[in-house]
Amino acid sequence: MQLMLGEHNIRISYWKAWRSREVALEYAKGSFGTAYRMLPQYLENLVVANPGTVAEMHTSYDDAVGHKFKYMFLALGASINGLKHMRKVIVVDRAHLRGKYVGCLLSASAQDGNYQVFPIAIGIVDGENDKAWEWFFNMLLKFIPNSSEVVFVSDRHSSIYHGISKVYTAARHCACILHLTRNVRTYFKTKNLGYLVGKAARAFQLDEFYRAFNEIKTLDASCAEYLIAIGLENWARAHFEGNRYNIMTSNVAETWNSVLREAREYPVLALLEHIRAKLMTWFAERRIVKQGGNGRLTARVKEIVETNFRNSGGMLVRMINSMKFEVKDKDDSTYEVNLGEKYCTCFAFQKLLIPCPHAIASAIKAKVSIESLVADFYTIDTLALAYAEDIVPITNGAKAGGDPTQGVDMFPPASRRPPGRPRKSTILSTGEIRMKTRRRKHACSRCKAAGHNKETCKVAI
Ligand SMILES: [Zn+2]
Ligand SMILES: [Zn+2]
Repeated sequence: MQLMLGEHNIRISYWKAWRSREVALEYAKGSFGTAYRMLPQYLENLVVANPGTVAEMHTSYDDAVGHKFKYMFLALGASINGLKHMRKVIVVDRAHLRGKYVGCLLSASAQDGNYQVFPIAIGIVDGENDKAWEWFFNMLLKFIPNSSEVVFVSDRHSSIYHGISKVYTAARHCACILHLTRNVRTYFKTKNLGYLVGKAARAFQLDEFYRAFNEIKTLDASCAEYLIAIGLENWARAHFEGNRYNIMTSNVAETWNSVLREAREYPVLALLEHIRAKLMTWFAERRIVKQGGNGRLTARVKEIVETNFRNSGGMLVRMINSMKFEVKDKDDSTYEVNLGEKYCTCFAFQKLLIPCPHAIASAIKAKVSIESLVADFYTIDTLALAYAEDIVPITNGAKAGGDPTQGVDMFPPASRRPPGRPRKSTILSTGEIRMKTRRRKHACSRCKAAGHNKETCKVAI
């Protein structure tokens, strides 16, 4: 009896702590409910202040209630303008909102030439499902073309796969290696498998890939089958027809994730303002690289080239013709480099568009500038162009979004979070898992749906 009471008390204190945190956030950042009312006006003001911005909202209508928030999308003009200077790899990701209402924060980003995250767009949706993701991708389609040049990287959530297959029929899509190795570690208990999957995924050459993959096969044949079932081209760089460069995970920048993690605690307007202010600062700071930099390359890529330069020492280079070279490394492996076509048989040169050690050894022999072999994406000039446009705040009225009494008649998302403390730990999405045999299905006693229990149920009843 004592034990039960003790546990009960803990639960209540957790619940109280959660509620009081919500109240404190409402006090500090404005109300969760009225924030949705002010959202249309806020977005309109933001578009006026920041030309080229794409802001969209979608509501559902119900005779009894009126308009209810469904989805919103925001891509600032400065991001859309800078996007043309990025490599065409788009990382899409998601996080659950932590405020009063159930919802999901979707995001799209690229990686700039200095290996920093380049935020493209965010979406807020009332639930993470096929329709919501499809809507989000349709918004992206307004400025990211449906082309085979475009590569999406995401975790293996089924709704993301659905959305891309509906909207981006020509684009390529591949899996985040971090999520994949995490799944492998969860479902296959043999030691070292996660490490080997990462190694196989990152390999540039097929024989390098098969060396790691055969080790996986030897350790756990069912894991190898699982990886084949996903489709090798969907996770292994050596098998991928498009170019994902170095972007192997959806976790391209921890800084962006921490911005989103913090923002998702807030009511919707404070969330958007938090992100807008962060982007404003990033754009202002990152373009200054032009004045401070020396040489052609961004700081991060300069480091990579310097490392490759050190590794090129002691290689034996023989000329095939004025542009082609045979390179023997210290392990006596032979590579062929073409400086004109920026190609090496190790594949790293053409996959990263940064000269590999073999290309650098050849360039030294040919008296070709090493920096000239690096793609324009990685130059400080390109970086400055990508961040050229200012992001500005909304200054008309004391508070972004204006007077709450002047808001339109729109109500927050339909689903209110049920009482209880939401879990903070990450839940693997069902779409990430293909191991049907190992997954037991339990129906939720609250809503009867499978895949969760009444403790984690977020469905409004
Ligand atoms: Zn090479
Ligand atoms: Zn449920």
